[in-house]
Amino acid sequence: MGMPGFSTTAIHHGYDPRDHHGALVPPVYQSATFTFASAAGGGRCFAGEADGYIYTRIANPTLALLESRLAVLEGGAAAIAFGSGMGAITATLWTLLRPGDEIVVDLTLYGCTFAFLHHGIGEFGVRVTHVDMTDPAAVEAAMAGKPKVVYFESPANPNMRLVDIEAVAAAAHRAGALVVVDNTYCTPYLQRPLALGADVVVHSATKYISGHGDVTAGIAVAADAELAQRIRLQGLKDMTGAVLSPQDAALLMRGLKTLALRMDRHCTNAMAVARLLQAHPAVAKVHYPGLETDPQHGLAKRQMRQPGGMIAFELQGGYEAGMRFIDALGMVACAVSLGDAESLAQHPASMTHSTYTPEQREAAGISDGLVRLSAGLEDTDDLVADVARALSACAAPKLRAIVAA
Ligand code: PLP
Repeated sequence: MGMPGFSTTAIHHGYDPRDHHGALVPPVYQSATFTFASAAGGGRCFAGEADGYIYTRIANPTLALLESRLAVLEGGAAAIAFGSGMGAITATLWTLLRPGDEIVVDLTLYGCTFAFLHHGIGEFGVRVTHVDMTDPAAVEAAMAGKPKVVYFESPANPNMRLVDIEAVAAAAHRAGALVVVDNTYCTPYLQRPLALGADVVVHSATKYISGHGDVTAGIAVAADAELAQRIRLQGLKDMTGAVLSPQDAALLMRGLKTLALRMDRHCTNAMAVARLLQAHPAVAKVHYPGLETDPQHGLAKRQMRQPGGMIAFELQGGYEAGMRFIDALGMVACAVSLGDAESLAQHPASMTHSTYTPEQREAAGISDGLVRLSAGLEDTDDLVADVARALSACAAPKLRAIVAA
């Protein structure tokens, strides 16, 4: 038999009911601490001379099962679960960087990642350099400073910029840097950065991996087992303590079972909305790499299975029109977060990316009029109808006449 497929792995990997009284669904080890058979045995566990669970902030059997599934799905050596995506990102970067080191990052980043770099680790002696990672010459030039870490999202939140993972990873490795990729928008079903050369993948598992909007969680997956262990023992255990609860790990494993099915529907719905937006006179610009006219369509086809469930767009009439659009939506909720069954829309400049100054947003390519939409799992026709209704309602009076014609 060949390697099990994505969904088979997501549903079955690492668990045999016969080892658990026949329980079909893995039991939840809701225990903060673990007993040792003897004092000497406990000492051996702490010394790393014997296997055994010690304390849930270090490791827990329920978390271990989730971690093993995500490690296989991402094609890594090992994974570490966290209580949030920011927990995964900060623990990874605290582990990899020391005062005097440089981290090179893309222009566009999720707002709290940007804030962590500039107001967190950046204030502890780490140099943060932004480069346009869609420009190979700029990436090459940035490597001259011998950065420790190269970090980016692809697609980037919120404006859907893609980074050529293979090319940037190769340039980073030539300079001796480690490559960390935030794969939240894709999940391992749509994109596997480790296979393209990345060293660590991080996720906000709050999003598609959970899929149901009821958990905050994060994951880091490292290509190398020793690096994963460092992130666990330093970044998780000592530096952030951002552990995931076993109950939430069980909810993530429930989400994982349907991840492939859900991602297919998210992508179908996003494509239908993107086509509507592209053809609509109230829309100035659509950022969705599934559209043949998108400048990064070719790259998307190369490194992503499908173009994903997220869309960004700008309306004619900019900021005011964007606000009117969000308020005119009916079924689609106005909320941050993404990857839920419910479609969500938000305004990055005043919400998720308000951690940037207006000048920083401009440099990052996040316009004040940008609207971000997370296509949910509703019936495609209902989603398209809701967006179409809101577009008509928000169009400026002159445009409204054209729309009505
Ligand atoms: N990375 C990306 C791309 C995100 O969109 C988010 C959250 O919106 C995060 C990281 C942070 O994850 P969390 O909210 O789970 O801490």
